[in-house]
Amino acid sequence: MCGIFGITGTRDASRLAYVGLFTLQHRGQESAGIVTDDGSRLLQHTGMGLVNEVFNNEALQRLEGTSAIGHIRYSTAGSSHITNAQPLVLNSSLGLVAVAHNGNLTNADEVKARLQKAGAIFQSSSDSEVILHLAARYRGRTLEETLAKNLTKLTGAYSFLFMAPGKVIGARDPYGYRPLVLGRLGRSYILASETCAIEVAGGEVVREIEPGEMVAISGGKLKSLRFAKPKKFTRCIFEQVYFARPDSVVAGRTVHKVRYEIGAMLARELRGIKADIVSGVPDSGTVYALGFSKESGIPYQGVFMRNHYTGRSFIQPDQRLREFTAHLKLSPIRDVIKGKTILIIDDSIVRGTTSRKIVSNLKKAGAGKVIMASASPPIISPCYFGIDIPTKRELIASRLSVERVRRYIGADGLHYLTLPSLIDVCGNRSDRDFCVSCFSGKYNAGEAPRAGAGAGRMGL
Ligand code: AMP
Repeated sequence: MCGIFGITGTRDASRLAYVGLFTLQHRGQESAGIVTDDGSRLLQHTGMGLVNEVFNNEALQRLEGTSAIGHIRYSTAGSSHITNAQPLVLNSSLGLVAVAHNGNLTNADEVKARLQKAGAIFQSSSDSEVILHLAARYRGRTLEETLAKNLTKLTGAYSFLFMAPGKVIGARDPYGYRPLVLGRLGRSYILASETCAIEVAGGEVVREIEPGEMVAISGGKLKSLRFAKPKKFTRCIFEQVYFARPDSVVAGRTVHKVRYEIGAMLARELRGIKADIVSGVPDSGTVYALGFSKESGIPYQGVFMRNHYTGRSFIQPDQRLREFTAHLKLSPIRDVIKGKTILIIDDSIVRGTTSRKIVSNLKKAGAGKVIMASASPPIISPCYFGIDIPTKRELIASRLSVERVRRYIGADGLHYLTLPSLIDVCGNRSDRDFCVSCFSGKYNAGEAPRAGAGAGRMGL
């Protein structure tokens, strides 16, 4: 998780980057940063917090130049520090180069150790810096050639934006785990994590960057090259389930529509289920519940009021804070709930903490029965590719049967969507391949970290 946004060839570069990052805020709330190119220098501004906390008018004015790349960061506990805020800028034998990264490199520790042995000095503890040091050491004739040569040394997930004076480069890993989309705004090019950012910035979506593709934009011209053969396209299915904004298009389909259809699919899988009302855990669960309601005929009702000013609770890196903000966030609407059998849908159950709290809140507010449904299958395996799905031990479905999870969360019933149904709804005819390793426990060969090499919690 993390969001990236880049724009070239406009006098409003820093302001449009701000708009893009603001639109991608749901992808991370820990830090934000923009680097601009004024023709000879790279100007940087980064800070901890939300986009509108990190930047003000003055900061944006100081970021002169006609190109910009920006980043917003989500991070897990331990690495929450300004030195890890991106874009990072490195001044090396390669000249000035900035990088913004969405994803997670699974061999970063090994590569870093080798580079450090050879004398490289790292500024941050983030895995993203590795590519700049590799590039400074193993050079080609152009920056594109240099990057192409070195990207193939990385495993795991990456969508990268690079910037050097006069040039912006985007690259997506050969599996296409994390998203990267190309857009146009007049004569400018945009590269962004999601289509919603391109559209809010006033641009038009052109296409996705292909797995293993690099695009270099310089002097108003875009060049595309393949730095690696694309592997089996395994984009992350969790983008559709939870992460992407509903107005974005992922794999050719609007996320909102996909979620609505998943809700309907869940209703078909649970045909005959009895409930007075169906509802969703706001905000992400709501669309699923609407789709469920349409298909099943069970009326939809909102049962929680969501306070929108608290941020996403899960996004707080620390467990204690996460629990506290969850209390602030949702308050039950008693009159709707009282005496009813409620079917409540969330996008996913990770640790089970949220579902347990939701069920208990509904019961305290007078619900007769509470049936919980997850719009995705049980999460049984960690994510090594940039979604903060923690260690196996913390994943409740990896330890407990469905019946025991039901008892733990205190629900009267518990149902999960099946994996074939999820894949079926998320894909379109030409594009059915996804990374579903968090649901299946199966990883692309050589892509999960080797035992002891940093497996477990990660996430950018
Ligand atoms: P948990 O309480 O650990 O079971 O988390 C489940 C809740 O967190 C659900 O309400 C989801 O909307 C949300 N969620 C699930 N996966 C993630 C993730 N990787 N990052 C942030 N939030 C998530």
